[in-house]
Amino acid sequence: MYAKNIWKDASEEKMQAIMDFSEGYKKFITKGKTERLCVQEALELAKAKGYQDLSKVKTLKVGDKVYLTNMNKNLVLFQIGKKPVVEGLRVLGAHIDSPRLDLKQNPLYEKNDFALLDTHYYGGVKKYQWVTIPLAIYGVVVKKDGTLINVAIGDDENDPVLGISDLLIHLASEQLQKTAAKVIEGEDLDVTFGSIPLKDTEKDAVKANILKILKDKYNFEEEDFLSAELEVVPAGKARDYGLDRSMIAGYGHDDRVCAYTSLMALLDSKPSDYTSCCILVDKEEVGSIGATGAQSVFFENAILDLLTLQNNTSLKDLRLALARTKMLSSDVSAGFDPLFAGVNDAKNAAYLGRGIVFNKYTGSRGKSGSNDANPEYIGWVRMVMDKKDIHFQTAELGKVDQGGGGTIAYILGNYNMNVLDAGIAVLNMHAPMEIVSKADVYEAYKAYQAFLEE
Ligand code: MN
Ligand code: MN
Repeated sequence: MYAKNIWKDASEEKMQAIMDFSEGYKKFITKGKTERLCVQEALELAKAKGYQDLSKVKTLKVGDKVYLTNMNKNLVLFQIGKKPVVEGLRVLGAHIDSPRLDLKQNPLYEKNDFALLDTHYYGGVKKYQWVTIPLAIYGVVVKKDGTLINVAIGDDENDPVLGISDLLIHLASEQLQKTAAKVIEGEDLDVTFGSIPLKDTEKDAVKANILKILKDKYNFEEEDFLSAELEVVPAGKARDYGLDRSMIAGYGHDDRVCAYTSLMALLDSKPSDYTSCCILVDKEEVGSIGATGAQSVFFENAILDLLTLQNNTSLKDLRLALARTKMLSSDVSAGFDPLFAGVNDAKNAAYLGRGIVFNKYTGSRGKSGSNDANPEYIGWVRMVMDKKDIHFQTAELGKVDQGGGGTIAYILGNYNMNVLDAGIAVLNMHAPMEIVSKADVYEAYKAYQAFLEE
């Protein structure tokens, strides 16, 4: 069903299914505020459904469920199909990193009786959106002996929250003359961390007190910040949005909403002809680079593991398996916002409540950096959707020349596989509070499942 509002024709049962499904999703993003925590959450869900560590598996048969993790920030799961893997797979790929503020390696300093933490933003952010809101810190600190310390401050109801200050309106006449990009500058996104000086200390007594608390609570020293990965993210739970509870407000819908729906589609799907796969990658917001990003050979190696277990060990088998694979690159689309209608071509925009969004291409200017899916493949995807009465729509990212963006689609496309961008429309993308429609969340889950089972 193309471009129709889901709520209009939803039965009582479907309305209930939409609402029920969104509860699981809200839990997932409330806990999964970093890529590491998303991997942890996803693994818990997968293990409950019988998924096993592929590196410990000796044989593969139809219906077997296996996973591999990569450096705790990247996860791939497979359900073995009836045909051998060399015949190709059905892949859903989403990213679990979201824009945020990372602590610098040397973050802690004292100024005018405040202890502060210096940050470096990660991904595309409107910096002014990150001040005067409750923030939390999550991540790990790794000591020289390899001890890994988990840090979580700001979401337990007994925790304090953190935050970044902004200038009072009374003294802001100069600030308000600046462009939005300069109102809050990157170097000023410093988190307020404390204000009590340590007794009998002369220099930097507030900082000394903070270090004492860190030592007592987490048992690490200032120098251990050098080998830490600490992420400043919005504090608080994902919540229902709108009086009719039709939407979800939360941090990190981009792209955990597609990660969760892709994961659940796999976990709830029946074994099909082709091996089903869900891959959750890191680093999409900064170009998909590095060991845990979509450009890593981790995915290729995982396919190689499957092929080896099925005695298809040549390089040609690997290349054939990848080229015969079909993929939906599960990533969010820019939802049409009536308050900013001018940035879209209304007939090629994604609307909340109208189902999964297919982007033939993303990119910017002349489709630069885009995968631009083949019409032969899009035709096949339309057939799959209509067979199961799935609501879908098509869109591009704003008007031509308006801006743009990319996804992981082209990276997997490089393996010579058919890839189409497919995801959920989001309002306020990359803001500390993003919005999605519950109907779209559920419909994407059904769409991904239909894709895997076709
Ligand atoms: Mn994304
Ligand atoms: Mn993004």
